[in-house]
Amino acid sequence: MNILKTSLFASLCAAAALGFNMQVHAADIPQQQQVAGFYQHQLGNTQITALLDGTNFMSPALFKDISPDKVQEILKKYHADQAKGVQTSVNAFLVNTGKSLTLVDSGTADCFGAHLGSVLKNLKAAGYQPEQVTTILLTHLHPDHSCGVSKNGIANYPNATIYVSADEANYWLNPKQAEKITADKRANYLGTVEKIKAALAPYQAKKQFKTFKLGDKIGEFEVISTAGHTPGHFSYKLKTAGEDVIFIGDIVHSHTVQFDRPETAIEYDIDPKMAVQTRLKQFPDYAKHGQTIAAPHSPFPGIGHIYSADGKSYQWIPVHFKD
Ligand SMILES: [Zn+2]
Repeated sequence: MNILKTSLFASLCAAAALGFNMQVHAADIPQQQQVAGFYQHQLGNTQITALLDGTNFMSPALFKDISPDKVQEILKKYHADQAKGVQTSVNAFLVNTGKSLTLVDSGTADCFGAHLGSVLKNLKAAGYQPEQVTTILLTHLHPDHSCGVSKNGIANYPNATIYVSADEANYWLNPKQAEKITADKRANYLGTVEKIKAALAPYQAKKQFKTFKLGDKIGEFEVISTAGHTPGHFSYKLKTAGEDVIFIGDIVHSHTVQFDRPETAIEYDIDPKMAVQTRLKQFPDYAKHGQTIAAPHSPFPGIGHIYSADGKSYQWIPVHFKD
């Protein structure tokens, strides 16, 4: 044993005596990325593919009419990671009835940065081609739901017709509306309008953009008015041979704070009072009937149920993994 080997041997013995594990340092093995991107959920003959756009983090200060202490208490109760903010998922859903392929909401494309915008990539990874999508149902026109339909003026789903409620289209696309927005909110509104218009333009140019009103049916989907978060916000209900599913849209943004305390509005709500009323109307109904729901901002895959023990506070019950 030469001097170097002797001293190394001595160090190893010393380390072993101190209880160090000299075989592998944790840092020697690189950690790997999360791979979740799509999730197949079967309902009767219909397959719903949840598509992850990405994960977003919200400031706890965005919650309204609730004390910061109460927000922290709820987040703590649900072990909600707080390091970067309140975690929310951005999900879209692809519905395959066997005869048609419908996309419900479309994610952000590049409207919010590189941490989001993966719906199209994940749709392809799930085994589908964007050309197969013939219908896109938008719950509302906020850019985290509408931007994903196109990129740089080119339709991501060239054979699809987009549907949105007439009230929603009027609020964002009617130039006269801007005059009704209060001065403090106008710049933000106009910035959002710009993103929405750019996303929809290739579809409007080819007359593949349509509006609907309450009572209309789009293919096999019924429309449910859930205004408040935006003026023309709608949810979509699909009856399948197995059970019904409702694509709820943004009637809720936080599976922790707004489930635990559903009276809590969020800064993104255009009419916070009405948004709360809508949630307080829909949640008891969904809880009572064991309704399967698909939610764009619940943790991926965003499919699950609502439970309430007392009719006041609710819990998000995610679907159980099935392979
Ligand atoms: Zn949203």
